Amino acid sequence: MMMKYRVHEVAKDLGVPSKDVIDFLSKYYNEPHKHMTALSEEELNLVFEHYTQKGEVANFDTYFNMKKPETAKAQPTAEQKTPVAENSAAASSGTAEKTPPANTRPQQGNRPQSGTQPNRPQNNRPGQQFQQAHGGQQNRPSRAPTGGQHPAPQAQQTPTAAAPAGPRPSAADRTVRHVDTRGAQVELDKYNMRYEEITPDRAKKDNIQRKQKLHQRSANRRPNYAKRETEAEKLKRLVFEKSKKTQLKVSIPDEIAVGELAARLKVTAADLIKKLMALGVMAAISDTVDYDTAALAAIEFGAKVEHEVVVTIEEQLIDDSEDKEEDLEVRSPVVVVMGHVDHGKTSLLDAIRHSDVATGEAGGITQHIGAYRVKLQGRYLTFLDTPGHAAFTSMRARGAQATDIAILVVAADDGIMPQTIEAINHAKAAEVSIIVAINKIDKPGADPQRVMQGLTEYGLVPEEWGGDTICVPVSAKKHENIDKLLEMVLLVADMKNLRANPKRAGTGVVIEAKLDKGRGPVATLLVQNGTLHTGDVLIAGTTVGHVRAMTDEKGNKLEDAGPSVPVEITGLSEVPAAGDVFHCVQDERMARELVEQRRTQEKEEQFGAIQKVTLDNLFDQMQLGEIKEFNVIVKADVQGSAEALKQSLLKLSNDEVKLKVIHSGVGAINESDVQLAEAFNALVIGFNVRPETAARDNAAMAGVELRMYRVIYDCIAEVEAAMKGMLAPKVREVQLGRAEVRLVYKISNVGTIAGCYVLEGKVTRGSQIRVVRDGIVITEDEISSLKRFKDDAKEVQQGFECGIGLEKYNDIKEGDIFESFIMEEYRD
Ligand code: GDP
Repeated sequence: MMMKYRVHEVAKDLGVPSKDVIDFLSKYYNEPHKHMTALSEEELNLVFEHYTQKGEVANFDTYFNMKKPETAKAQPTAEQKTPVAENSAAASSGTAEKTPPANTRPQQGNRPQSGTQPNRPQNNRPGQQFQQAHGGQQNRPSRAPTGGQHPAPQAQQTPTAAAPAGPRPSAADRTVRHVDTRGAQVELDKYNMRYEEITPDRAKKDNIQRKQKLHQRSANRRPNYAKRETEAEKLKRLVFEKSKKTQLKVSIPDEIAVGELAARLKVTAADLIKKLMALGVMAAISDTVDYDTAALAAIEFGAKVEHEVVVTIEEQLIDDSEDKEEDLEVRSPVVVVMGHVDHGKTSLLDAIRHSDVATGEAGGITQHIGAYRVKLQGRYLTFLDTPGHAAFTSMRARGAQATDIAILVVAADDGIMPQTIEAINHAKAAEVSIIVAINKIDKPGADPQRVMQGLTEYGLVPEEWGGDTICVPVSAKKHENIDKLLEMVLLVADMKNLRANPKRAGTGVVIEAKLDKGRGPVATLLVQNGTLHTGDVLIAGTTVGHVRAMTDEKGNKLEDAGPSVPVEITGLSEVPAAGDVFHCVQDERMARELVEQRRTQEKEEQFGAIQKVTLDNLFDQMQLGEIKEFNVIVKADVQGSAEALKQSLLKLSNDEVKLKVIHSGVGAINESDVQLAEAFNALVIGFNVRPETAARDNAAMAGVELRMYRVIYDCIAEVEAAMKGMLAPKVREVQLGRAEVRLVYKISNVGTIAGCYVLEGKVTRGSQIRVVRDGIVITEDEISSLKRFKDDAKEVQQGFECGIGLEKYNDIKEGDIFESFIMEEYRD
């Protein structure tokens, strides 16, 4: 930064002769300074020090006062070299240096006169010229050291460093600057920065976050000021905030009606239905939706969903918890004997019952209570005393699984018979193990091999032939091989690993029940789990009571009965139904409440679930025990056929269901037939007759089935098959339409053409035609030609006329009705 500043320049700037400067310097330095000698910084400082001290003032006031008159005077003498001499005494009072002649020197030596710059306009600002000449880097006279009169050069080392960057504004130049501190524009960054500087790192973290949070909040608040909310908006916001705070909670059961759900959600049913539609569920207000659907819709409405778990009295009362492994003990098998009639079921049960008489363990008089136990090799076997599968089926229908093993009795001289097959099917359906007793082997015509052969056809492959069905040839009559049969039963029982927990409350199934004149309701119960004690409170179906007395099949009094033990008990208030499940409970009052509940439920079911019998559901209803009597109405074309059909049908009754013909008559099926059928849950059979239109419509509405036949044998076969559950209709008739014959044309070479008017539906080229005259079916035929005017038509709709020619039948009469139909294959 040092630049060459020569003696003559310095002298010129200071307004003194060069010689003065040279003289002054010669006092301090030995080496001679010449006119052109460039001064070192030190020398320069010394010179400045010397000359500026000469212009020192006592205070600023003096300085400013001194300036004004000077300015005034200076202007006219802008070109003069002689500075103003006032105050020179004061200014030079402290200067004892060898100075240029004091009177010729401007007192404010520190303020070089503008006269040195003749071309420049007068400017009195101190230091102005220095600044202009030396880039403003020179020390200013006013900042001259004040420490002493003779400052040592050493003390003057860095006078330039302290120099301000620019001229100081004079008092005259000072203007008032108003700073408005009310403005909201605060530079937060600045404070952040400051904060960063002064805060220890540890404390910074949290506080900065808080600070930012505050900042964000204030930022967020801003829009609220920007736009004032209207009353409506405010209301909406409040409602929204409230709803957010108190989110609607709804509890939804497993199933709920749409209307009820809407009420719980506090929305309109229409809104809910819309929402459900959006979820792909089409439901009306009265429809019920399942929990999942309801919950989904509720969530859509912003509600919080809870699954409503209904704890029924049943759940409170009846302990249906799983047994612990360590509590389980082996129990004896429960066996049922099944088979075709006369194959020896009763004989076999007798033989078994008496098998242990021989062992001498019998006690008391054997009574029939519906079940008994026999002992073999120290183990018990429980037999249900009711042969046939009727009881078995009714129990199954009530959900009771009473038996473990079924002994299928097949007479060796008779082989597999229809009821044998039924028994097989029932046992299989109930997943009960089957042991085959090939009975009557003592008979001359016995052929066990044939029986076994027959069994394979029904999936029962004898062990001897590599299958897993145990077949034991026995003679019930001669008590042969009975022990072997029982051994096999035990073997199968072992394989099944039958176990129960005798330590819990007794539960099981009602085997038989009756009303005894002296003892009141008597029931035979088979305990399936737990232990039944005398005095226990017992609930069975819709019956409740205390176990007053308990006896076994030999009349022995018992105090308690464990798993697989059949007992006869008294003490119930009513007669329960066979197949009812019973439970021992703690709370009798609650048990009575539950019974009441079950009764109402039963009534509701009876009321609501009246299903009309059809040939298709007949067997199902029979199986469910809902049908004990199968009612039929017969209508035929003539009295003779009606009677014949009736007699044939009556013969179809069996021990499970009784077929009753509640009405038979001649003529078309009419409305009163349908009404009767509806009232008595009957099937209407039409033989060679058709239903009247109104009757057909009513039947469809009431769900009454109308079955039409043209062959007695077909009718009998179908009803029989239906009763055995083997009806498998594969084709059914689909009505297309009806046309009335209004004119009959006889055309040679073509035959008879019926001019028809289509009353309803349509007639198509491929359809069949049933010719009906006065409600009686005359014939069924196929269409040979179908024409509209002279053109062939594929189909003719209701309200149009057409010409119909039949394949075979020519004896068409005016007024005949042509029913067009097709046969359609279908599956249930
Ligand atoms: P269920 O209808 O199946 O109960 O058969 P039953 O037990 O009533 O027997 C029908 C007929 O077969 C009776 O006359 C019995 O005497 C006879 N029967 C039963 N088992 C045998 C047997 O093992 N051998 C012979 N020869 N006849 C028997």
